[in-house]
Amino acid sequence: MKYISTRGGIEPCEFLDAVMMGLADDGGLVIPDAIPDVRDRLSDWSTLSYNELALEIVALFATDVPREDLRPLIERAYSADHWPDGVAPTVAVGDLHVLELWHGPTLAFKDVALQLLGNLFEYVLARRGGRLNILGATSGDTGSAAIAGVRGRAGIDIFMMHPRGRTSPVQARQMTTVLDENVHNIAVEGDFDDCQRIMKELAGDLAFKRRYSLGAVNSVNWARVLAQIVYYFKSAFGVLAQQGKDVAEKDATVTFAVPTGNFGDILAGWYAMQMGCPIKRLILATNVNDILKQFFTKGIYPRSTAKPTSSPSMDIQISSNFERYLYYYVNRHSRNIDAMADRLKGMMQILEHGGNMYVKPNTPDGIDPQIAAESASEQDVMATIAETWRQHRYLLDPHTAVGVRVARRMRRDGETVICLATAHPAKFPTAIEQAVGEAIAHHNRLDALATLPTRCADLPNDKQAVRDFIETTLKRRIP
Ligand SMILES: *Cc1c(COP(=O)(O)O)cnc(C)c1O
Repeated sequence: MKYISTRGGIEPCEFLDAVMMGLADDGGLVIPDAIPDVRDRLSDWSTLSYNELALEIVALFATDVPREDLRPLIERAYSADHWPDGVAPTVAVGDLHVLELWHGPTLAFKDVALQLLGNLFEYVLARRGGRLNILGATSGDTGSAAIAGVRGRAGIDIFMMHPRGRTSPVQARQMTTVLDENVHNIAVEGDFDDCQRIMKELAGDLAFKRRYSLGAVNSVNWARVLAQIVYYFKSAFGVLAQQGKDVAEKDATVTFAVPTGNFGDILAGWYAMQMGCPIKRLILATNVNDILKQFFTKGIYPRSTAKPTSSPSMDIQISSNFERYLYYYVNRHSRNIDAMADRLKGMMQILEHGGNMYVKPNTPDGIDPQIAAESASEQDVMATIAETWRQHRYLLDPHTAVGVRVARRMRRDGETVICLATAHPAKFPTAIEQAVGEAIAHHNRLDALATLPTRCADLPNDKQAVRDFIETTLKRRIP
């Protein structure tokens, strides 16, 4: 398996190169040059443990890593130490199923990918030598999951910027209470866009990037998408087995409802579906920042500014992973490969410059018969959290509630729907209290953070200040 860029401007490379590259060097996103078809393996795979299944799937895409090397990387990423209740348990809530992806170290689904990515980085550095300095910007969940993925690892330092006072207090403490020598939190006196701008400017300074081997952990890294493919298979197998269905039967399928922001998680489901995972369709769920819904229902990708909601990890205007989907979409609708790369580049430029992009809907139902889309308002989200708690004594976090609300609205008769639960509700205690009228969202691990010491550098909203901090810190760390 080789990796290419959506914009056609890189030499085909191996999996580990793709992982280290993050964003493709031509500004596009890295994708596999083919999507394997696993339909004839479903029966064999359906009885595997999570780690065994992860090994089979990752091995298909990581053909430059021997299986005997992959196995321990996966086993360490998903050990019971880090996931005491399993990686991806699926539970019944009323007539829906909920795939709980928040049992990892930071209680959000991003741990599934970032625990594995940390191991892959360490593996590459051990084989090729050198160091990696990760620079990131976070509005909340990504930062703590990325830090948990690389804390204490040899050869890796992580610099994570967050907007001072603008993440939830719990989210900030999940980052700043990590005292490992290789973890450097930076609270920037600005908002998330300022953090992201500083990150892009520093990463775009190629001399600086090379001198300090700067790498990225944001959701465009292919390994993150890959790691997330696994739980779609695992959950589909589990629910179908519970229903006494044989995965090899043609009509044995499930539907996934996925709360989406950067289009990363649902893209993994889309890849799973193309591989032959028994998925009937995907239901894409957005909050009021509903650009992706507009695209999938009307073929319009309108630009506006993001409105803050109770599900902040989905308050996104440009979905960073969307270009991967668009690549396959344009590919299906055009014959000439060069014309295609140009068309995609044109579309992305329109988006990057704040314009509106259009494609023609294929059917009255929208762009893609495999993906249905709907949004949930803030009121919908609050009502869904309250109702689900009242009726089932099950507490949804606001992101998950977006998915559950949309799933209830879109579900057809007899359809088996699995909703992805992306965070533990205790990460968003204010929204929960607002929805149910009581402060009932707790988690021991988060409560314990309140009394721990913290370390964090407060810096002005200034690229040069962040740059100086990185240089001084690394001089001290690597004399
Ligand atoms: C990141 C995040 C999402 C959105 O995931 P994407 O991959 O960006 O679509 C949803 N819920 C939570 C809790 C998250 O942290």
